[in-house]
Amino acid sequence: MLIGSGLAGGLLAAYLGRHGYDVDLYERRADPREGNIVGGRSINLALSTRGIYALEQLGIADEVLRHAIPMRGRMIHDKSGNLHFSPYDRDPNKFINSIGRAALNTTVIEAAQRYPNVRVHFNHRCIDVDLDSATANLVLSGVEAAVSAANSDHQIIRAGGDAVIGVDGAFSVVRQSMQKKIKGFEYDESYLAHGYKELTIPPGSDGSWQMEKEALHIWPRKSFMMIALPNPDGSFTCTLFWEFEGPRSFATTKTDDEIRRFFEEEFPDAVPLMPSLLDDFKTNPTGSLVTIRCAPWFHKEKVALVGDAAHAVVPFYGQGMNAAFEDCVVLDECLAEFPQDRQRAFAEYFVRRKENADALANLALQNFIEMRDKTASRVFRAKKKLDHLLEGLLPGIYLPLYAMVTFTRMPYAGAARRAQLQDRIVYGSLLLAIVLIILLLVAFAGKGHYLFR
Ligand code: FAD
Repeated sequence: MLIGSGLAGGLLAAYLGRHGYDVDLYERRADPREGNIVGGRSINLALSTRGIYALEQLGIADEVLRHAIPMRGRMIHDKSGNLHFSPYDRDPNKFINSIGRAALNTTVIEAAQRYPNVRVHFNHRCIDVDLDSATANLVLSGVEAAVSAANSDHQIIRAGGDAVIGVDGAFSVVRQSMQKKIKGFEYDESYLAHGYKELTIPPGSDGSWQMEKEALHIWPRKSFMMIALPNPDGSFTCTLFWEFEGPRSFATTKTDDEIRRFFEEEFPDAVPLMPSLLDDFKTNPTGSLVTIRCAPWFHKEKVALVGDAAHAVVPFYGQGMNAAFEDCVVLDECLAEFPQDRQRAFAEYFVRRKENADALANLALQNFIEMRDKTASRVFRAKKKLDHLLEGLLPGIYLPLYAMVTFTRMPYAGAARRAQLQDRIVYGSLLLAIVLIILLLVAFAGKGHYLFR
């Protein structure tokens, strides 16, 4: 039984369905095909190699990528409206893909439903899990209040199975049940001081994109930033990442004048493209950004956690969903390796993924500083050029960190370690070369001085 049919839930149900398992997937929301937007999260996402690989294994990558827009690099907008383009890779065929969350969610659910042994139950909210019996208590969404008012459990649906897999996102109820009931369960959550708000740049009057279509746009402003990803309908979805509190923050920017003044000061080139800015800013929710680390991700052969339920990360590497999809691949592999021993399969899955999820959490936090601050600097752009130069000069030996994370399936922890080592060697060698050149110049100047004496 799976709880949560978000991005990873739908995909995992398809993997398990293909495996021949009987799967009941319970989702608190209504069917997304009935026009319900997957609210509260980003409208579009960056899909890259790891996620694409997971979709390919089920034969649905082409279907998803048909609606994707390639983003070939970062388009940096400075305060004067000047633009600088920095490609993601030296190979122009390596890019990330902007895809709609709702369409992707529908595709993975439909992929799961192609297997007759997968049943999806929308409008079922899990409220608690009994870990040892792998039983979930569910209520029909919208009637929870009535249930508690009646103080009766006759409307609670008990669903049992061989195992419960929590794919119910960052605020997972399955994980909460583990926190309550497993002695020594490790749990850590940390929130950024920044929240995020989505805004819109609609298509131009001819239906086309009003900025470069094939780029991820960034307005880096040191302590905060705005980004924009293209949508197939000609619009862009912008996300402002900004402090919740402080002299200039979400808390102090409420009136039309305050909102307009802030945007005109910080994003003057974007304002004319955002006719619904004031409405969007006042109406759209301000989301929070959380990193969740926990252990273990399983209980005996009965319960496991997958995706954000196990390891929510901040979105600045564009990897949360990609990592959640990679979880599905690894769990599927472990179940195939240990068909008779599910506890061993869950334990292996946890061991193979935990270190990598922790590494990704750190990389994602570091990348916030890179995106909001460093992308604005010439040094950053020079470093990216040097990265691409070294990659060309040392093929297979030097790989930039961004490329390892985004364009390979190398484990995140290995990529982080390799990048540290590469940096030490490259910058150590550069330093050594500079010192040698200085010493040579000094020696040469001394000799010249001697000769001309
Ligand atoms: P979710 O997608 O959150 O799905 C969980 C599902 O469980 C939902 O359908 C929910 O309704 C359901 N559920 C929850 N509780 C219950 C319950 N009690 N009972 C039943 N059902 C329940 N990742 C990327 O790879 N690339 C990006 O560009 C990117 N951009 C992002 C931008 C933002 C602003 C944010 C916040 C995140 C971004 N992410 C990105 C991360 C990505 O959204 C998540 O990592 C991904 O959604 C995780 O998938 P999931 O299935 O584990 O969780």
